[in-house]
Amino acid sequence: MAGRGAIETRGNAAFDPFKASLGLMAAAVAHGAQVFERSAVRRIERDGEGVRVHTAHGQVVASRVIVATGYATPDFRPLAGRFRMHHTYVLATEPVDDEQRRDLGLGNVLLWDTDRPYHYVRWTDDQRLLIGGEDRPVDPRRRRATQFREATRQLRAHFEALLPALADIRTDYAWEGLFAMTPDSLPYIGPHRRYPRHLFALGYGGNGMTFGFMAARMLLEHWQGTASPDHALFAFTRGAGGA
Ligand SMILES: Cc1cc2nc3c(=O)[nH]c(=O)nc-3n(C[C@H](O)[C@H](O)[C@H](O)COP(=O)(O)OP(=O)(O)OC[C@H]3O[C@@H](n4cnc5c(N)ncnc54)[C@H](O)[C@@H]3O)c2cc1C
Repeated sequence: MAGRGAIETRGNAAFDPFKASLGLMAAAVAHGAQVFERSAVRRIERDGEGVRVHTAHGQVVASRVIVATGYATPDFRPLAGRFRMHHTYVLATEPVDDEQRRDLGLGNVLLWDTDRPYHYVRWTDDQRLLIGGEDRPVDPRRRRATQFREATRQLRAHFEALLPALADIRTDYAWEGLFAMTPDSLPYIGPHRRYPRHLFALGYGGNGMTFGFMAARMLLEHWQGTASPDHALFAFTRGAGGA
């Protein structure tokens, strides 16, 4: 692949997020957690020194509730202005055989460029190329289907220019994802003065694998009352405007 320059780093990893989520959940259950899938929270109310979380079929009473809904959903409308929603796009090719792989000339790498919007490419275990990027802000004035067609066409065109042999390899799947960005691209992790007994972990952007891990650690500290200089970096009160 041709380019003006690149940095090759070692020790990177890729994993299947679905399997990883199942694994994390199984580990939590083994430590006594109870999991209620497909139970949308309809209301959260104060209950003495704690909270009462209402779903369609039941209630959970706890000392704290952690809100990790990706971004501020309509239930937290006063926080919504802090998040800008973006679409991101992904294509998965058909499985690529050894000859096609040689023709492509792309080694066993996780590649990410510095364009804006960025592009990335990775291999899957079943030898498909996963091509992604072309992120763009959600534009309510434009039809989602039109944006999807445009972005996925541009993704292919971008990589066909870099890897001409890709022109003969079919796209098997294409999809879009929705994610939230904050003004400084850092998530909000911690409490908000408007919502007592709530802890938030929102707005990871495209970095939920690392930020999610950090949020788990920091929210445990908040719950335990352990101070850390890290908390201020991700607080709602950081930067201009404050909470
Ligand atoms: C295509 C794509 C590629 C990505 N690649 C990477 C990558 O390579 N590396 C990386 O670090 N990150 C990546 N990301 C970003 C990463 O996936 C996200 O940052 C991460 O999944 C966000 O996790 P989350 O738990 O905060 O939110 P989500 O995964 O968005 O989960 C929020 C959950 O809250 C639930 N919810 C909402 N409202 C309610 C309610 N009222 N009651 C109950 N539940 C509710 C939703 O149903 C949802 O399940 C990628 C994202 C996309 C879309």
